Amino acid sequence: MTQPEDYDLVILGDGTGSTLAAWTFAAEGKRVAVIERRYFGGSCPNIACLPSKNIIHSAKVASYFRRSKEFGIHDGGFQIDMEGVCDRKRMMVAGLKPGLSRQFPNRGSGVHSGSRTVRSSANA
Ligand SMILES: Cc1cc2nc3c(=O)[nH]c(=O)nc-3n(C[C@H](O)[C@H](O)[C@H](O)COP(=O)(O)OP(=O)(O)OC[C@H]3O[C@@H](n4cnc5c(N)ncnc54)[C@H](O)[C@@H]3O)c2cc1C
Repeated sequence: MTQPEDYDLVILGDGTGSTLAAWTFAAEGKRVAVIERRYFGGSCPNIACLPSKNIIHSAKVASYFRRSKEFGIHDGGFQIDMEGVCDRKRMMVAGLKPGLSRQFPNRGSGVHSGSRTVRSSANA
């Protein structure tokens, strides 16, 4: 059985707001644990801000293709492969994950999956 540990602060959810709070309190020497049930890094890098901009960028490229004659470029037609668009987005999100979790120990706090305990300390 896992040994209980004491924390000064336990934050539910690893979103933008809680991440900043965890780092701020850890910098003050507090023992901080963040418990995340699904999206490490919160909504923004996983399902909201960044993935939406990634897909919007694909739409922008498609728009340029559609308007290519305006720019003096003659193309032979094009197709939008939505699976390819989504794969590009998924790769970007997957590439962000290691960096997001590494920042916690570097800043003296710890991120936990669900509600199980993973060691974390302001002095770690
Ligand atoms: C499509 C889209 C595009 C967006 N684009 C932008 C943008 O360009 N710029 C911008 O500033 N904002 C944008 N936003 C808004 C931005 O994503 C949110 O404002 C921001 O993510 C909110 O951060 P948060 O920390 O409050 O919550 P979140 O990032 O949602 O974090 C909450 C976390 O808590 C976890 N959680 C919840 N309950 C529990 C529990 N009981 N136990 C454990 N974990 C739990 C969730 O899994 C989640 O990871 C966008 C939102 C959407 C939907």
